[in-house]
Amino acid sequence: MAEETIFSKIVRGEIPADVVYQDDQVMAFRDIQPQAPVHVLVIPKQRVIPTIADATDDDEPLLGHMMRVAARIAEQEGIAKKGYRLIVNCREHGGQEVYHLHLHLLGGRSLGRMLPG
Ligand code: 5GP
Repeated sequence: MAEETIFSKIVRGEIPADVVYQDDQVMAFRDIQPQAPVHVLVIPKQRVIPTIADATDDDEPLLGHMMRVAARIAEQEGIAKKGYRLIVNCREHGGQEVYHLHLHLLGGRSLGRMLPG
């Protein structure tokens, strides 16, 4: 079984978070250190998938749902028309800090080129 994470505690309500959406599969809340005017994290609720590399074929519907939820939140937040960015960081070289799969939704300003340099 994957390890508990800070996000598991958010799912259980043990740590407060600014939740913008949830259903039986996912929860979405605002990042504590936002990198853009809108910075929301979409996470699976049922079990901890540490990284995208740990997801299985069975997780495909869940992964698709996370993307659709992010797109819907972008509409709700009023950033869809101008556009936004979805990011999944994976492990050390990807700069992942929390080993509980999450999709970053960033927008509300021009985000520039995807990578520096
Ligand atoms: P990663 O680098 O793993 O892709 O992103 C982890 C994100 O989680 C970071 O943007 C960080 O600011 C956010 N984060 C870490 N701890 C907390 C927390 O306790 N609450 C919230 N809302 N966000 C958190």
